[in-house]
Amino acid sequence: MKYFKEQKLRELQGKQLKHDSTFCFRCYPGISCFNRCCRNLNLFLYPYDIIRLKLCLKISSDEFLDRYVDVVLREESYFPDVLLRMEDNQDKTCPFLTQEGCRVYPDRPDACRTFPLEQGMIFDDESGHGRLVHFFRPPEFCMGQYEKTKWTPKSWEQDQEAEIYHKMTAKWAILKGLFHHNPWGSEGPEGPKARMAFMATYNIDRFREFVFGSSFLKRYKVKSYLIKKMNASDTELLKFGFKWVQFFLWGKHTKEIRLK
Ligand code: SF4
Ligand code: SF4
Repeated sequence: MKYFKEQKLRELQGKQLKHDSTFCFRCYPGISCFNRCCRNLNLFLYPYDIIRLKLCLKISSDEFLDRYVDVVLREESYFPDVLLRMEDNQDKTCPFLTQEGCRVYPDRPDACRTFPLEQGMIFDDESGHGRLVHFFRPPEFCMGQYEKTKWTPKSWEQDQEAEIYHKMTAKWAILKGLFHHNPWGSEGPEGPKARMAFMATYNIDRFREFVFGSSFLKRYKVKSYLIKKMNASDTELLKFGFKWVQFFLWGKHTKEIRLK
């Protein structure tokens, strides 16, 4: 998910799609470029991607972060980006690419589902609201763009079972947008507050230990229906994590969390 400025949209490459615009695309095993797109990528991973991938691989979020990602702090943001680390081979292949295709296909990341579209957000600093935009921009080598099957952004999203991904990524994008301003103060982006924010959004198993295995629930009043949901589901816990970050960093009150 990239952030765009309204006035810069026209300068961007690719075709901007309205919700009812169509594009042609089809990808299938046997197409001449099969798997060419799964290498040498800057593949951004969002918090919900990590949950799905670590569950698919049956490892902890901690282990996933250790083995598969690079964490990069860029100049324009005070929160790091998380990128899937490509293999250290000549083609820099995705670590999940096999001869037969993607070995995490049912749980592949948001960016892989959305491709050949790219999703971005125009974020209004003042209102705090974001608006999603879509661009059609397959790389030249992608032969799928010359196929005849027609899609709208919506029908493509449904076909790729990307609805839950887009919903979670949009929530994350709104929170991430707040990090265009420095929330760390003198602690800097590697201090305890920053580590807490990263844990609550990207390291769900550690965050689970923190919420359920520390004095957290003694210090904060959390609605009991929510505790049950968080206990049963990493996705619900992640939604809570997004709210928690806003609460402890910016003091944004929600009806779900209160100091006791
Ligand atoms: S390059 Fe395009 S058509 Fe080829 S495998 Fe990738 S997505 Fe499919
Ligand atoms: S996760 Fe799967 S679909 Fe995405 S780049 Fe890797 S192999 Fe390709």
